[in-house]
Amino acid sequence: MGLRGDAGLSAEPLTGLPPVNELAAALDAPHAEAVAAARRAIDQRRRALLAGETGPVDLVAAARVVLAQMRRPSLRRVINATGVILHTNLGRAPLPAAARAAVAHAAEGYSNLELDLETGARGSRHAHVEGLLRELTGAESAMVVNNGAAAVLLAAAALAGAGRSIVVSRGQLVEIGGGFRIPDVIAQSGSRLVEVGTTNRTQLGDYERAIEDQERARPAAILRVHQSNFRTVGFVADVSVEQLCGLSVPVIDDVGSGVVAQGLVALGNEPSLHRSVAAGAALVCCSGDKLLGGPQAGLLLGSAAAVTAARSHPLARALRIDKLSLAALEATLALYRDPARARREIPVLAMLDAGDRNLTRKAQALQSAIGDAGSEIVQATAKAGGGALPLLELHGPAVAISERFDPVAVATALRASDPPVIGRIHHGRLLLDPRTLADHEVDLVARVVTDALHSAAPG
Ligand SMILES: *Cc1c(COP(=O)(O)O)cnc(C)c1O
Repeated sequence: MGLRGDAGLSAEPLTGLPPVNELAAALDAPHAEAVAAARRAIDQRRRALLAGETGPVDLVAAARVVLAQMRRPSLRRVINATGVILHTNLGRAPLPAAARAAVAHAAEGYSNLELDLETGARGSRHAHVEGLLRELTGAESAMVVNNGAAAVLLAAAALAGAGRSIVVSRGQLVEIGGGFRIPDVIAQSGSRLVEVGTTNRTQLGDYERAIEDQERARPAAILRVHQSNFRTVGFVADVSVEQLCGLSVPVIDDVGSGVVAQGLVALGNEPSLHRSVAAGAALVCCSGDKLLGGPQAGLLLGSAAAVTAARSHPLARALRIDKLSLAALEATLALYRDPARARREIPVLAMLDAGDRNLTRKAQALQSAIGDAGSEIVQATAKAGGGALPLLELHGPAVAISERFDPVAVATALRASDPPVIGRIHHGRLLLDPRTLADHEVDLVARVVTDALHSAAPG
């Protein structure tokens, strides 16, 4: 059999390789796809042979595996067994069933995204959630954009921008992660940053002096930023949103997570949208896919004048939310009308609130399916993640894979499985945390883990 393009290689062990076209013809796939899969399978085999591998191999079967891998979408469903509820790398909040249904419905056909069905005139996409947001938070007006970062950028540009200044405490010049740094965001909004206070302590008087400084133009806004992903402790002081709103400058309050839920102990004193709105902030900004538990989105709530300024700013178009996210957001927000239903049906809230009985049941089902030789139940600590509630420790049972298995090797095998299962390594052991597993995922995880342990030699 011919060996195309292999002139430079030692041909001795390679002479058995078929031509690409011959192997491609054995695959039931469109020509270009079959050729690509055949070429990859032959390449793999050639490298294996050169590495000294011997023994028979079914190349057609190998090419079919390659073909299946090529056909797999890049963005795939994975199972989160990390116990980190809002894992940014894993897409943050899983959506409630009602939101998933709303997305499917909006995606199926046309929608009244920007059409007023009553008058037939052009409508606003914000109208689909503005009523709900007003009802749930008491805000006078509201709009939504692509994400939390966009909400802060737009708020700063709309209330200041054009070289006007924004006052920020030095304790709040934070980095949220992934390139979101408050000084950079203010610069990008076209505003000038006026820093007040110190890293650990900022007092009301610091803001007052910045506002009344006769040498400078009066600031256009005060920006307050929640310390989402860290805490300062010890000799610290900051100024409440109520006190800031008592000053004579509009306040932008970036609360980060957007807590709407009530009656959840785990939420601690994470700032609620309701409180900032009630304090009188001109614009309150937050994410849609953190503790709110909805899709990626950025919420802006506040006075009618401030929201109008944000809506009519040229950046609003560039930052606007798409219809699928909007559908998911409307459905998620609607669940909050019944607080008990929200806690039950919004996965992020249900995971934060999961009781010991529920967690133990899932951990035991998983552990007994994997077996005592490969696993045991241990006590572990799950986290909120996503840059929220950094100190919150959610104690509960987890399944630890036996130390006989190399944790990195098992984690790698689980990531390569279908579906990929993502665990976390803690003190040299791979843990699978039931808190972030849906009930119906437990059997699937047990199957994937059992297969992976079978193929991973104990090390
Ligand atoms: C998360 C966060 C943001 C950014 O929100 P995204 O939705 O991730 O863009 C901005 N500010 C604060 C305080 C945050 O916690």
